[in-house]
Amino acid sequence: MSENKIWLSSPHMGGTERDYVNLAFDTNWVAPLGPNVSGFENDLSAYLKESPVAVLSSGTAALHLALLQCGVGHGDEVICQSFTFSASANPITYLGATPVFVDSEAITWNISPQYLEEAIVDRIAKGKKPKAIVAVHLYGMPYLVDEVHAVANKYEIPIVEDSAEALGSTYKGKNCGTFGHYGILSFNGNKIITTSGGGALVCPSEEAKQHTIFLATQARDDAPHYQHSSIGYNYRLSNISAGIGRGQMEVLDTHIDLRRKMNHFYQELFKECEGITVFQEPNEDFHSNHWLSAILVDPEKTNGVTREDIRLAFAKANIESRPLWKPMHMQPIFENCAFYGEKTAFHLFKNGLCLPSGSNLTSEDRQRIEKVIFDILSL
Ligand SMILES: *Cc1c(COP(=O)(O)O)cnc(C)c1O
Repeated sequence: MSENKIWLSSPHMGGTERDYVNLAFDTNWVAPLGPNVSGFENDLSAYLKESPVAVLSSGTAALHLALLQCGVGHGDEVICQSFTFSASANPITYLGATPVFVDSEAITWNISPQYLEEAIVDRIAKGKKPKAIVAVHLYGMPYLVDEVHAVANKYEIPIVEDSAEALGSTYKGKNCGTFGHYGILSFNGNKIITTSGGGALVCPSEEAKQHTIFLATQARDDAPHYQHSSIGYNYRLSNISAGIGRGQMEVLDTHIDLRRKMNHFYQELFKECEGITVFQEPNEDFHSNHWLSAILVDPEKTNGVTREDIRLAFAKANIESRPLWKPMHMQPIFENCAFYGEKTAFHLFKNGLCLPSGSNLTSEDRQRIEKVIFDILSL
C-alpha cells in the first residue's frame, strides 16, 4: 500500500525521554531501581494530587498486587466489569479466585451500579460475599463514580479502579485512579503515555506503597542475606523505562488536549450523519482524556451501512480501526462465569468501533479518515 498506516493509537514521544534514558546509562542505573524510578513516581504522585504511587512492570501486575492486597485468595469471588480488556479480569484468576461479571450502563459504557448491586445481593444470598470489585474507566471515560462507590460502600467491598486507559481523566474535578481503594495505571505502547511497557499502582497510604514495592521486588525480609517470609513477585519497573515515563509526563497534558481535539474532529465529522453517534461525556462532571474515540453505528438509520462495513473500508485505506471490547462473559475462557445484566455490553460490542485517536495524527491523516467516511456514507 502506498500510503502510511494510520494507527488507532501509537507512541508519541515528546523529546526529553532520551535525556532521561541517557542519564540512566551515564550513571549505570541500568536496573529495576534508580533515580528515574523514584523520579517517575514523584511525577505521577504530584499529577494525582499527592497520592502514593508505585511504578511496576505492567498494569496487569498492578491489578494482581492490588487484588492480593485486598485479601483476594483461593476460592474467592471478585466482581468485574464485563465490557473491558481481558487484563482487567485475568489477575483475578492468578489468585485462584473466580470473576463474576457485570453488564455496563449505556451512559459511560462502564459498570452498571444497578446490576452491580443485584450481583452483590445475589452472591451474598448464594453464600459468598465478593472480595473486591474491578471497575474500569473505558476509553478514558470515568464510570458513574458516585453511584458505583455508593453501592460498594453500602456492602463494604473495596474497589480496584482500573484506570489503565484514563490517566488525566477526571470526575467532578478529581483524578481517575484516585477513587478506588487501589487504582491502576498502564504505560503500554498504545496507552495515553507509554514507557514501552509498564504500569503503576496508586495506593491508599505510604505504607501500602512500601508494601507494594516489597511484594514487587521478591518480598525480601530486612536481613543481610536473602530471607523470605512471604511469596514475592518480580514486578518493578526498570530505570530505563521509567526514564521514558519522566519525559512522557512533561507532555501528558498537551497530548490529552490533542486527543480531545481528535474527538472534536469526529463529533464534527459525524454531526450530520444519521445513525452514527460519537461517544461523549454525558455532562460537565465527566472529563475524558479521550484515549480512544469511538462511534456506535445503527444500520437501520445508515441505509444499511454497518460497523463492519466501516471497519473494512478503513482497512482498505490502510487505516486501523477496531470493534469495541468483546465482553468478558462472552469470551470462551470465561463462559462458565456468572453474569449479571442484559445486553448493553453485547450491543456496544456489536455496533461500536474505535477510531484512530493518537495525539500524533496530522491534518493529512484526518483528511484520509474523512474521505473514507464520505465515500462509504455517500456524503
Ligand atoms: C491496557 C489495559 C490493562 C493492562 O495494562 P498492561 O500495562 O498492558 O498490563 C488493564 N486494563 C485495561 C482496561 C487496559 O486497557
